[in-house]
Amino acid sequence: MLNSRLFATILASLLVLLQSGCTADPQGNGLNVLLVSVDTLRPDHLGCYGYARDTSPNLDAFCRESVVFRQTIAQAPSTLPSHASILTSLLPAQHGALFADRSRPLAPGMLEFIEGAYDAEIRSMDRALGKLLSLLEDLGLADSTLVVFTSDHGEEFGEHGWYGWHAHTLYDELLRVPLVVRFPDGLGAGHEISRQVRSLDIAPTVLEAVELAVPEQFGGIGLLGAIRGEPLERLFAISQKDIPTSREPVTSVRTERWKYYNGVLYDLKNDPEEQFDVSNSHWDLVKGFRTMLDETFEHAQSSTGDPVELDAETRRQLEALGYL
Ligand SMILES: [Zn+2]
Repeated sequence: MLNSRLFATILASLLVLLQSGCTADPQGNGLNVLLVSVDTLRPDHLGCYGYARDTSPNLDAFCRESVVFRQTIAQAPSTLPSHASILTSLLPAQHGALFADRSRPLAPGMLEFIEGAYDAEIRSMDRALGKLLSLLEDLGLADSTLVVFTSDHGEEFGEHGWYGWHAHTLYDELLRVPLVVRFPDGLGAGHEISRQVRSLDIAPTVLEAVELAVPEQFGGIGLLGAIRGEPLERLFAISQKDIPTSREPVTSVRTERWKYYNGVLYDLKNDPEEQFDVSNSHWDLVKGFRTMLDETFEHAQSSTGDPVELDAETRRQLEALGYL
């Protein structure tokens, strides 16, 4: 049943204590970091992301004290590889955490029931989140703890003919996740960032916030500057799943406007539900994205280097074409 699995790892909260007083590294600023990653959580079912139902009152209050990223893309549509990307800032092809492909056919007439059950699970998660945040206060840690709230991937409710199993496609209903960051000093509170960011960017952002060095091999970038109000560059989001029958990873690359996935190009501005292939009228863009993916995965197989840097030339070409 959907809800037995949905939040099986509810509040898989990883308390990463980077306390400078307790560690050998003297360079950190002493902030604690609490990373709360809720399994299978679609942002469009949360109040602070615009949902009409009252599913998340505690999270909504938390959002008002935090900076809210409105367009965050996971690097994989299932639990293990996505969490590995959150924690390592590497693509699945780089960190090697793979997963099996499973799917179920859509059952007509069941969607309303399933979405209701899903929302009930979110309300339950929200109560747990409220308790967790209260505990932080009670322990006297709220003033010294950075809290990051996110999810590993979304869920599908028949948008592309399937529901309730989330590992087998890379459409937006599976890749978009919430990302909310609360700084103890109130930095960015109430601020919303609409530019696209990625799960890959969480780890470097946390390291920037605690004033520790960001490892060179990280694929993501720190977002502290953007949180402080500096302009954020346009970021490519590459996502990936593996299917056992193929040696080739199935990938997508997404900008705020476009998504190239399985040989199909979607215009997210005019077709946010990803229904229409527009590759015929944008072959130069398709070619650019293909080159980017080829180079990224060639590079991923030979090292754990930074795919974003590698794409700089392709990026320039795409910009020259006026696409970005
Ligand atoms: Zn998951």
